[in-house]
Amino acid sequence: PCQPLMFKPLVLPPKSTNGEFNKFIQEVIELVSTENVEVITSKDQIVDGSYMNPRHTHDPHHIMEQEYFLASAIVAPRSVADVQAIVRLANTISFPLWPISIGRNSGYGGAAPRVSGSIVMDMGKNLNKVLEVNEEGAYCLVEPGVTFHDLHDYLIANNLRDKLWMDVPDLGGGSVLGNATERGVGYTPYGDHWMMHCGMEVVLPNGELLRTGMGALPDPRRPETMGLRPEDQPWNKTAHLFPYGFGPYIDGLFSQSNMGIVTKIGMWLMPNPGGYQSYLITLPKDDDLKQAVDIIRPLRLNMALQNVPTIRHILLDAAVLGSKASYSSKTEPLSDEDLDKIAEQLNLGRWNFYGALYGPERIRNALWETIKEAFSVIPGVKFYFPEETAENSILRVRDKTMQGIPTYDELKWIDWVPNGAHLFFSPIAKVAGEDAMLQYAITKRRCQEAGLDFIGTFTVGMREMHHIVCIVFNRKDLEQKKKVQWLIRTLIDDCAANGWGEYRTHLAVMDQIMGTYNWNNSSFLKFNEAIKNAIDPNGIIAPGKSGVWPRKYSQLGWKL
Ligand code: ADP
Repeated sequence: PCQPLMFKPLVLPPKSTNGEFNKFIQEVIELVSTENVEVITSKDQIVDGSYMNPRHTHDPHHIMEQEYFLASAIVAPRSVADVQAIVRLANTISFPLWPISIGRNSGYGGAAPRVSGSIVMDMGKNLNKVLEVNEEGAYCLVEPGVTFHDLHDYLIANNLRDKLWMDVPDLGGGSVLGNATERGVGYTPYGDHWMMHCGMEVVLPNGELLRTGMGALPDPRRPETMGLRPEDQPWNKTAHLFPYGFGPYIDGLFSQSNMGIVTKIGMWLMPNPGGYQSYLITLPKDDDLKQAVDIIRPLRLNMALQNVPTIRHILLDAAVLGSKASYSSKTEPLSDEDLDKIAEQLNLGRWNFYGALYGPERIRNALWETIKEAFSVIPGVKFYFPEETAENSILRVRDKTMQGIPTYDELKWIDWVPNGAHLFFSPIAKVAGEDAMLQYAITKRRCQEAGLDFIGTFTVGMREMHHIVCIVFNRKDLEQKKKVQWLIRTLIDDCAANGWGEYRTHLAVMDQIMGTYNWNNSSFLKFNEAIKNAIDPNGIIAPGKSGVWPRKYSQLGWKL
């Protein structure tokens, strides 16, 4: 009989022994087989990789030391039953599991776990099927490993793309399911991914399987009598048509959370609108932002602006088209004059508004007239359609994005500086000129204090804006990384002092941000902790995610 291999991971789960770890891993290997288990035993395994070639060991955009957030092992279940078995096993020894779908999660921590030594559960490697695209109901049902790109390919391969459109974020490589559970956004009328999800299947921390909404209502054909396992049983026919079902609406508990592992999600798709036209409106001056946002609010509210449009700062567009060195020999933040020069060179404004019109020509024309008339009060604004811009223009990229075609062009802004890496700071703002200007002024000033250029965009939702500040830094410059940590921590406090909170964040500042959501003695956090402790008494699912710690960890001083 051969001796089982003994692994010595670089980092063990907290308070566990190498023996316990090996016992766990051997059992997992028996369950999912060796090719689905990688133990991190050598520093050689810790490479940053790239967007196109992601690794799941740690955060490739590390703002702390490279291995500050490090997995002990990466395990890829082959079925829902595997997920349940691993969860039950983890309960016996209180091992932390960190579920990911694709693991890119760029700018928010990558695939890295909040607690070093956690087992990263790679849900996407084997569970990667588009289970259904329903044309009549205009929805799909996907597993964790389906990327935006995959879904798009599926629509094309099945001759569905001319009937149904999907929504994509800036880059096509993320997980449809992972992005929705993180409440990510895209840019079509269906840009709020969480709003557009309908029906989830979740493995709970005790290993039980749950379907939410109408999914809790069984199929009347009684599939259990057909010998099908619960996860393979057909869903209720309204499960992806009506999200709320009956009783408490619990889907939110499985979003940005550590209450379960999501195994399937339903997403609404947009019927082909019967016509499409993207456009760009350039705004010449820095403080045109104020007037533009006040123009945008009523247009967006009454849906003359049909999609999630964006107001992009000149440097975001400039960075997609070239590195900082290609524009300037400066290393310090660029001045207003520098920005004006770049804008002129690229034929863009200081701010650039990207939107799209959907529907037959008559409808598009009516909307375009309304939008043009409203913006025309700003001196110097210019209006463009894609064919009126340069071959490599950002509008030509956005033209694809705003009709749900995945692209990778926006990857390039990360290379604004050498060894480029990035961190997102993402506060929510009112769609009001004064708020936007103040939030912009505060974030810009702090970026400059940290020696960095302000690069950002306002993404306009139904009644608010996600202000996405792209903090681009040199991952090999330790001094700069320290400044980046100072920057995001300071920005969180500055924003909280103004009544602004973030919609999503990097692992390193989840505790700080949860600390700002502290109304009435932190009743929100206390409620989440109470649920966490009730349903996950051993604290095995993603401890620390979003600043929610199970009781087991709270005594250990994990908060950052
Ligand atoms: P991306 O789509 O950018 O590659 P990830 O797959 O890394 O994103 O997911 C981002 C985050 O969402 C993860 O770090 C995790 O917290 C959460 N998440 C992703 N997939 C699941 C899942 N199947 N169940 C529970 N949480 C998940």
